[in-house]
This record gives sequence, C-alpha cells and structure tokens, in this order.
Amino acid sequence: MTIGVLGGGQLGRMLALAGYPLGIRTVVYDPSPDACAGQVAPLCSAPYDDWDALARFADDRWCITYEFENVPLETARFLAERVPVRPTPRALEIFQDRLLEKQFLNAIGIPTPVFASIDPAQPDAALEVVGLPCVVKTRRFGYDGKGQGIARTREEFLQWVQRFEPHALIAEAFVPFDREVSVIGVRSLTGEIAVYPLVENRHREGILRVSIPDLIPQSPLSVNEEGIANYPSPLTERGQGGEVYIVRLLESLDYVGVVALEMFEVGGQLLANEVAPRVHNSGHGPIEGSETSQFENHLRAILGLPLGSVAPRGYCAMVNLIGAIPPIESVLCIPNAHLHLYGKEPRPGRKVGHITLRADTREERDALLQRTLELVGQV
Ligand code: AMP
Repeated sequence: MTIGVLGGGQLGRMLALAGYPLGIRTVVYDPSPDACAGQVAPLCSAPYDDWDALARFADDRWCITYEFENVPLETARFLAERVPVRPTPRALEIFQDRLLEKQFLNAIGIPTPVFASIDPAQPDAALEVVGLPCVVKTRRFGYDGKGQGIARTREEFLQWVQRFEPHALIAEAFVPFDREVSVIGVRSLTGEIAVYPLVENRHREGILRVSIPDLIPQSPLSVNEEGIANYPSPLTERGQGGEVYIVRLLESLDYVGVVALEMFEVGGQLLANEVAPRVHNSGHGPIEGSETSQFENHLRAILGLPLGSVAPRGYCAMVNLIGAIPPIESVLCIPNAHLHLYGKEPRPGRKVGHITLRADTREERDALLQRTLELVGQV
C-alpha cells in the first residue's frame, strides 16, 4: 500500500513515520529537494505545476493526501482526476481562503469573529462592519501570524490595506480572547469519527509554543451513539464544546482525514479562527499522550481502516522547538520527555522539532512542563 503526500515538511515526515508499522509506504512530493520528509521517505521533487511529474506521482498510489493547505488547488484537482485525494480538493478550496472558510463556518452554525471582505476601492465599508480594533489579514497564504496586522485606528487600518496590496484581504474584529484552543477530529472513509480532547495553545510572535490538553482523564470517557468520544471539559458540559463543532464540520463536508479547528475562548464562548484540513501542530501531544496519534489516525481514515482509540494516556503536553535545538542529553534526561527532531537546520522562527511530555498526574505533568520550558528558554 503506497500513499502520496503533497508537502515534505515535518508533518509529511511524521505521516510517513506513522505509516511504517502499519505497512503503509509513503512517497512525498515537494518542490524543495531538501524537504525534511525526504530523509524518511522517497521524495519527488518538482514544482506543483509540473503535470508530468504529478502524473507519475499519482501512478500506483492508493490515495493522495496533503500536509499543508497551501497546495495549489489546480494541483489537487489534477491529481483527483487520477486517484482519490483525501481530504478532497473542495476542503482545500474552502480552508485555504480565510473568507470562504469563515462563510462556510457561519453557514454550518459555527460562530467566528465578525468579519468582512475588504474592497480596496472602498475599504471603509469593511471597517464599518468589524469596528476597531481589528485585524487585517490576507485571504490566502497566511501562516504563523504572517500576512496580518492589528489596526487600532482608521489610519493604521488603511496602512495595512495598502501594505498588503494587491492581495485579497479580509478584516476581522479583534477578539480579546481569554485563551486560544483547538480541537482535532478525524473522520474515516467509512464515516467513523473520533475527536481528540480540546487543547489549550500558547503562542508567541504568532508561532505556537506550547499545547496542553484540557482534559480530566480520570473521569469516565463517554462515547455517544455516533462513536464520538466526549471528555467532560466545562465547555462540553455547556454544549458549546469544540467537539460539537468539529463533528458538524466533518459531517457537513463528508470529510475524510484529520482536521484541526483553532478557536478563541472568550467569556466562556468559542469563536472559530481557522481550520487546517490536515494534521496539525497542536495535535502532536497525542503522539505519546493518547492511544493513537493523529498521524496514524489520518492514515487509517484516508485508507478506510478502523480508527484507533483517541483515549488519553494520562496527562500530556507539547513544547515546540523554535529556531534552536537544546542539547539532546538535557532533553532526554527529563523523565517521560519524548524528543522529535525534524531534520531541519535551525533558523530564527523555524520549527525544528518538538518535545512531548506524558505523566500520570497533572502535578507531575506541570512540573515536567516547567522544567522543559526552562530548558528551551520559553518561560
Ligand atoms: P491566524 O494566522 O489567523 O491563526 O492568526 C495568528 C494569531 O493571531 C492567532 O493565533 C491569534 O493569536 C492572533 N489573532 C488572529 N486573529 C485574531 C483576532 N481576530 N483577534 C485577536 N487575535 C487574533
């Protein structure tokens, strides 16, 4: 069984690694010959509009998936004419455009910050809808806080609009959130669904630094009639949990694979910020912190195999390594710390690895987390 993965970054690398024990082989496609997934799987290195190379890549694959949402839509559509692409190009089309994404989320009843498309000929119209302060974002190709700016005044708003031209833009009301959270769900080709526990995400300079699941693992894990695992987080009890939203999202698109929904929690309510139609950085904790990682479950889902349990193994946390790798010995002597390096050269702001932590009690996990944050200089 060989699958193709578009994109050869660390997410593609971890997908390939998760496939080995199951006998699933992976071939990755990336324009860069140095793509780090190429260290663990065969790499086709060609541009995303090299149709001959893409046709060869599609040949003999069970299916094709992607590890980042900025794969050109035309590339995904071209491949989908030859071999199943999961998640579908339709999911890619919606979630690579912040305007279509938010319109879609609102249409299925998932609330978002107030937003408006910016018409460069009359930008004030969008400002009237969202008010100040607001965030100006490029509709496409933004990641890790790139392609966006906060405006506190009309002048700042107009400056951002000018700075981002000629890109299509969206304005969003600035949300004074209490914290940022995400939920990762997975739906198999067979319709089976599983949802990982809600995770709290801490960012700095627009980059995810730490993810901590919000769960109470000693409470009974309930699974409803549709097979959805429910964790008794306060938000779920109020019926507003991200779990409810992610299931709605998965079902409304007949989605196949892993999807991540990033949200703001503000005054006990969740507002959706962004959807990633792929495995996600905030889901690395479950690599060791749950029975089945998001990577393995993504592979199971796109191949129509039964999903693995997402039940937690105690308490976990994930710390990203940004721009530098601490001495390996110092990481490995932390009990229950699992080091994942991506084979990338450290550069400022670059994700070069992560550490997952697992413990039997919350106190123990918190102590390990503190020690790890001190080690990587993120306290
Ligand atoms: P994004 O690229 O949309 O995920 O945004 C990157 C980060 O910017 C988020 O993780 C938030 O910390 C912040 N951010 C984005 N949109 C908003 C918003 N509407 N209000 C407040 N903060 C925001």
